[in-house]
Amino acid sequence: MRDSSKSALYIEANQEEINMTTQTATTQIDPVCGMQVDPSQAAGTSEHTGKTYYFCSRGCKTKFDKNPTEFAASQQANASSGGCCG
Ligand SMILES: [Zn+2]
Repeated sequence: MRDSSKSALYIEANQEEINMTTQTATTQIDPVCGMQVDPSQAAGTSEHTGKTYYFCSRGCKTKFDKNPTEFAASQQANASSGGCCG
């Protein structure tokens, strides 16, 4: 019989870094359709209450410009939506 006395194994709990955010710091969310937009490739931008919003298409910018308050307020709620309008 093998006596494994005092051979304590210290199991290290490796804390892996979990990437909680998939979007980079430079990526902005299109408030109209929720799509991620690279500001350098945005089809359009609009400023509302001092903040700049980026859009994947001119159609999204047009919709935002018609009712910027509504889209700006619902930006967080619609962030998970993946559909995009052309
Ligand atoms: Zn869009």
